[in-house]
Amino acid sequence: MALLSADQYRESLRDGRSITYRGRRVDDVTADPELRVGVELAALDYDLAHEPDHREVAVVKDPETHEEISAYYQVPRGPDDLLARSRLIELGTVRGGTIPPLIKEIGTDALFALLRVLEGEALERARVFYRHCADGDLAVAVAQTDVKGDRSVPPHAQPDPDVYLRVVDRNAEGIVVRGAKAHTSASANAHEIVVLPTRAMGPDDADWAVSFAVPVATPGLHLYVSPFSGGDRNDFEFPLSHRAKMLESLTVFDDVLVPWERVFLLGETALAGPLALTFVEYHRFTAVSYKLPLLDAFVGSAAAIAEMNGVSRAGHVRDKVAQLIAYAETIRALTEMAALRGRVGQHGIAYPDPLTTNMCKYTFATRYHEAAALVQECAGGLLVTAPGREDWESETVRPVLEKYFRGAAPAEDRLRMMNLIADLTARDFAGYHAVLAVHAEGSIEAEKLQILRSYDLPGAVGLARRFASID
Ligand SMILES: Cc1cc2nc3c(=O)[nH]c(=O)nc-3n(C[C@H](O)[C@H](O)[C@H](O)COP(=O)(O)OP(=O)(O)OC[C@H]3O[C@@H](n4cnc5c(N)ncnc54)[C@H](O)[C@@H]3O)c2cc1C
Repeated sequence: MALLSADQYRESLRDGRSITYRGRRVDDVTADPELRVGVELAALDYDLAHEPDHREVAVVKDPETHEEISAYYQVPRGPDDLLARSRLIELGTVRGGTIPPLIKEIGTDALFALLRVLEGEALERARVFYRHCADGDLAVAVAQTDVKGDRSVPPHAQPDPDVYLRVVDRNAEGIVVRGAKAHTSASANAHEIVVLPTRAMGPDDADWAVSFAVPVATPGLHLYVSPFSGGDRNDFEFPLSHRAKMLESLTVFDDVLVPWERVFLLGETALAGPLALTFVEYHRFTAVSYKLPLLDAFVGSAAAIAEMNGVSRAGHVRDKVAQLIAYAETIRALTEMAALRGRVGQHGIAYPDPLTTNMCKYTFATRYHEAAALVQECAGGLLVTAPGREDWESETVRPVLEKYFRGAAPAEDRLRMMNLIADLTARDFAGYHAVLAVHAEGSIEAEKLQILRSYDLPGAVGLARRFASID
């Protein structure tokens, strides 16, 4: 099958899927004035593959079928493939205005994990599903994070057994699942949803150790999409957030039948942890790759507004810009290093180095708020007191603004740059980015845990003991 066009993608989403938004049922996700912003963000991915300038990065020849497929679906075989994947994700995020389309990035993270961890019949099912997605050029969301109830309690001991997604029945056609996943990105505008376990599980958690994939328009699957950072936005006040919105949902499985050929894990509790972690290895690499345009925008907007304010030569401003560059380039260098240190795992599939990937994500997340504050410091209070689009478009108000908001640059440039920085660091979209930094792809503590697991601690302790002359 050929690569989808953006129009074919939009058309394919009109399939009767069950979406609820702001308390009401949505019949067509592509027509809803707020939800369509997420659809259009994702459609950029399909446009990219058809643009002559980007085909080399966005499209590859499939080694099995010799047909063209989206480069996101290229199974990485070594560091070069991982680097190419990172650059593609970065390119997509530049187009998305700091938010990646995320309709193939996360889905392929899950597919690579399934292809690496599974064996036997389950692996064959995953391979068939992979072909279905790659050949159909499909958009795939991943529902890993369960709603989880009381975090201190394992799935089988929760008062409500549905707070982790579980198997409630098996029949000749397949399994029946019940429960809910949270924060599922791009679910409302994907074709398929892959479900993965969110944690390691013990022998009593067998009913919760389940992985499968279903089309979004499956009976019993209901998506409750978050309105955060939605609403009517103009491109003057909200230069990024009027177009950069991802659709996250509470994803409820109300006794959904999953056909046997789509079941990848069923009751093998020992595999739940490795599958969850292998997905995360890829997904944190995707994360740090898509953070790079955001950090470049921090550097660029801080330097630009300082210039427009006439303070770019001030020592403290140069210091702040230098700190921002060091931060952005540390993340870029660690991202590249994670790929270069990548290893080839089971079934000949490469993966980014977990220690470097987690160090990168951890460094990004823990220094993010400080970096945003540096950009704000360079900008000034207009970030929250600037006039709106109607003021700027008014024939009587605009001359006043042009006179009084001129700095070392015309008022329009200065106000537009202020609005970009407000979107990035001060408005609700900035809050979205800040929470995304801390929690998406795993909270900071999860990254620390992986750093501790991946580092050769016994080796370092041995060295310290030798230096201390302890046998
Ligand atoms: C914008 C966004 C997009 C996302 N997209 C997706 C997606 O597409 N698919 C998906 O599956 N997930 C997605 N996530 C979910 C993300 O992976 C989770 O938010 C993250 O794993 C944290 O889980 P939580 O939000 O349930 O918070 P919690 O797990 O409740 O964490 C809150 C705090 O409690 C701590 N904590 C939790 N459990 C314990 C414990 N047992 N002991 C000690 N401390 C604990 C954590 O370290 C953290 O500090 C997304 C999240 C965001 C914010």
